[in-house]
Amino acid sequence: MAGLKNLIVWWHQLPLPWRGWRVVGHVGAGDEVPDRLPNKGVVLVGAPGIETWAAFDCPCQRGHRLMVNLDRARQPVWSIDSLKPLTIRPSINNITAERQCHFVVRGGKVDWSHYDRRVTL
Ligand SMILES: [Zn+2]
Repeated sequence: MAGLKNLIVWWHQLPLPWRGWRVVGHVGAGDEVPDRLPNKGVVLVGAPGIETWAAFDCPCQRGHRLMVNLDRARQPVWSIDSLKPLTIRPSINNITAERQCHFVVRGGKVDWSHYDRRVTL
């Protein structure tokens, strides 16, 4: 059955468009977050149950990494309301000189806020 096992592993690596945003792993510190993450994959930083960050590549697909604070001792702070499907609250609004990425991760999906998007893709 080794062949079947390999097939399953291969299948799970595919960037399946219907696969939603999900937690793909835990690491102990922010510098341990892998440079490459699976499509729609979120890595939690910190011990399970006391995570301090959620790291993921911005869904705008322009290649920038986001680190969302989950530690209530720091502001602003977000919370993970649900792991399956993944829901992060409140919305994430990343503003730089070049772009604004404002969206919410809800039910494993990204809903963009088009209302305040000032930068065209
Ligand atoms: Zn972005």
